[in-house]
Amino acid sequence: MLTANEKLRFSRQIMVKQIGEDGQLTLRNSTVLIVGMGGLGNPVAMYLAAAGIGKLIIADGDSVDITNLQRQILFNQHDLEQNKADTAADKLLLNNPDVDIEVVDEMLDAELAHYYVQQADLVIDCCDNIATRYLVNQACIECTVPFIVGAATGFDGQQMTIDPRKPNSACYQCVFPKTEDALVENCQTIGVIGPVLAVIGGTQAIEAIKLLTNVTMQQNRLALYDGLHQNWQYISVKQQQNCPICCRL
Ligand SMILES: [Zn+2]
Repeated sequence: MLTANEKLRFSRQIMVKQIGEDGQLTLRNSTVLIVGMGGLGNPVAMYLAAAGIGKLIIADGDSVDITNLQRQILFNQHDLEQNKADTAADKLLLNNPDVDIEVVDEMLDAELAHYYVQQADLVIDCCDNIATRYLVNQACIECTVPFIVGAATGFDGQQMTIDPRKPNSACYQCVFPKTEDALVENCQTIGVIGPVLAVIGGTQAIEAIKLLTNVTMQQNRLALYDGLHQNWQYISVKQQQNCPICCRL
């Protein structure tokens, strides 16, 4: 049962017919792991904490740098050099003190990724490097936990939902095979327009709410956002029968 305070706090969300009180209860009973607390992790965590997700596990080993402030909207001048996950948790609790937040103030390796992924109902990839994304993709496939990928550079962004509980669900590596070139290219520092992260992070948060409450979701689809021309493009993707991650099990 929702408390009277919860009914009031989340009233505008409960009014939405696809959510209702049952959906709100489901959100309260959910645990979401957010990997990366930078430009995407900030809006994703803000919306999910505000939406009443019961537990957020937020992972980031980095500290706040002055070059982050142009787009990482949870942070300000006073947060410089502080750990991002730790600082974000303090800010999120100001909005919703009832959300249970577990801070992981280090970068995930394969062992940590497995440890935290298996505790989650859903994982949201908000990391800034493809090596971590491959690692989290693999942990999610192995633990059969759904996973929402997001990325952005310049005026462009992409989003994809992967649900290994469903048959024939393409994983990240089906769509972006792991090659040396892919790993090297991503190491370069690339610029990004701040609000593009809000669009992609907002899309990830919408997908998260839909997935957790069992509202319809799009599978095997890569969504590409072009902020320069305000255009979305959708590409159908397929599970690759030779994928070393999702087809070897
Ligand atoms: Zn795959």
